[in-house]
Amino acid sequence: MTRSGPTLDELVEGVRAGDRVLLARAITLVESRLPEDQARAQEVLQRLLPHTGGALRVGVSGVPGVGKSTFVEALGARLVERGRRVAVLAVDPSSTLSGGSILGDKSRMPSLAADERAFVRPSPSAASLGGVARRTRESMLVCEAAGFDVVLVETVGVGQSETAVSDMVDVFLVLMLPGAGDELQGVKKGILELADLVAVNKADGEQLSLAREAVGHISAALRYAPARSEHWTPRAMAISAKTGEGLDELWEKIEEHRRVHGSKGVVEARRRDQHARWMWSLVEERLLDAFREHAVVRDWLEEVERDVREGRVTAAQAARGLVEGFLGLGG
Ligand code: GDP
Repeated sequence: MTRSGPTLDELVEGVRAGDRVLLARAITLVESRLPEDQARAQEVLQRLLPHTGGALRVGVSGVPGVGKSTFVEALGARLVERGRRVAVLAVDPSSTLSGGSILGDKSRMPSLAADERAFVRPSPSAASLGGVARRTRESMLVCEAAGFDVVLVETVGVGQSETAVSDMVDVFLVLMLPGAGDELQGVKKGILELADLVAVNKADGEQLSLAREAVGHISAALRYAPARSEHWTPRAMAISAKTGEGLDELWEKIEEHRRVHGSKGVVEARRRDQHARWMWSLVEERLLDAFREHAVVRDWLEEVERDVREGRVTAAQAARGLVEGFLGLGG
């Protein structure tokens, strides 16, 4: 190790050996926005790539307060007891704004974060949701290379972050609250289209019967959602992250989903599609960065945007002018 930190060899070997300090350093490198770090990160990822892909990747989503961190902590504890190695990552779109985060940090999962057999990493911050998702996806690969065989990716049930997470996992789980009527009103159709499994949490105490009722309503709604896979019918179940009720059954369903799709090669096909889409989102991100940094665009952008806002130029005209300037076309 040099004074400026570990060498690339040390990082790669450290991650492979499951060294937690070097794993955290590698992820910090992946999350960095400095261009020189990004080049190093890509080299580390390239070298780790042959050792990735071995984890069961599970997305966990739900509105704030539904019990995501309680659930991840309880499920994670069960899994490590069974000898699994569990990494927990997060995609928090609010972390892109300096205003703070919805998911909070890893202090929400104190015992899992302290467990040697688990690794808990809060959401990276980045300029855009695309940037956050990219960093989390790359961190997931680093965790796989370090030998974690379950990766839980947590996200909040708002905006586009669920789509981004469902596009990086094998199984997408949506947590919901008991309270059939109103809650179901709030269920965006889109969410049911993404869900492989829905778990109604807090099915304990006074809320038990409400939770069971919600499972019935959601199951009915799921029947009308377009199928995500010809091999799988999404289903709803009741759980309690607090008492642990239903967690084993839920995990069994997650593994069944994996078995069914794994044996049919569907997991691999889905991952290949995800890679291709990921490539395109990276192309978009890079192009947009290059566009914003381009000298001509930088000089014009403010003025052109003002003209558009004030109605002096149409959006289409302005966009064409900027892109032509970027491409070096026109006058
Ligand atoms: P998050 O915002 O989705 O991460 O939700 P939290 O895990 O922080 O949980 C929000 C609140 O719900 C906390 O007060 C938890 O103690 C409570 N909670 C979580 N799971 C359960 C559960 O299964 N049953 C009950 N009764 N409360 C729960």
